[in-house]
Amino acid sequence: MRKQLSATGAKPVMGIGSCLVGNAVRYDGQAKCPGSHVQAICEAFEMRAFCPEMGVGMGVPRPPIELVGSENSVRVLDVATHSKEYTVPLAGYAQKVLDMAPDLCGYILVRGSPSCGYEGVKRHSDNGNRLASDQQGIFAMALAVADPLLPLEDDERLNNPGLRESFVARAHAYHDWKLLCDDGLSAHKLVEFYSLHKPDCEALERILADTDRLPLEELSRIFITALMAALSHRSAKT
Ligand code: SF4
Repeated sequence: MRKQLSATGAKPVMGIGSCLVGNAVRYDGQAKCPGSHVQAICEAFEMRAFCPEMGVGMGVPRPPIELVGSENSVRVLDVATHSKEYTVPLAGYAQKVLDMAPDLCGYILVRGSPSCGYEGVKRHSDNGNRLASDQQGIFAMALAVADPLLPLEDDERLNNPGLRESFVARAHAYHDWKLLCDDGLSAHKLVEFYSLHKPDCEALERILADTDRLPLEELSRIFITALMAALSHRSAKT
C-alpha cells in the first residue's frame, strides 16, 4: 500500500471537467461518458467538478464555441457568427477554480474542448476554416499558467497506462507536497519526501546533496519543480 504523509488519511482532491462526471453541462445539454480509467481515478480521489463555460454564465444549452486565430494568439468565439468572445472570462475562471479548491492536486481535462482541452484542440481562421489541431483549451492553458505544478491530463490520454501511472503519481506527490508545506519545510523533510516519491533523478540527488548552498525557500522551489518534471518525464518515456 502506498505510504502517504497525511495523518488523516483523507483522499487527495482532484479537479475534473463537470461533463465527465455525468453532469449535463455540455453546450448541447448532454454529459460525456467517462472511460473506466477516469472512473477508477474518481473512486481513488475526492473529486471536485467544474464547468468553466457554466461558471462564466454561458448557460445550457448554449451556442457552441471554437478557437480562432494564429497559433500563438487564439480567441474563443461563437461558431455561428464569431461576434461573441469568451476568451477573458474563460481564462479568468482558472484562478477562480484554484481559489475555490486550493487543495487540488491534479485536474482531469476534457478531450477536444475549446475551454477544457489538454492538447490538440482545433483552431480556425476568421472565416471559420479549420487551420490545425494544435491548441490547448483557453481554460486549460490558463490553469497551467496559474499553477505550473498542477498535474494535468485529459480523459482520453488517461487510457495510456504510462501517462495514467505518471499522472496519479504526480497527483499524490503534489498532494503530499501541499501537506508538507502546510506542516513546515526543512532540508531533512525534503530528503524524506524524495525517498517517498523517488523518481530516480540524478539532478534531484545533486540538489539534495548540497542543501546548504541555497536558502530553504529557493531550494524547495527548485526541488519540487524538478521532482514533478522527473515524474512527468517518466511517463514520456513509457
Ligand atoms: S468540456 Fe469543460 S466547458 Fe465543456 S461542458 Fe465539459 S466541463 Fe464544461
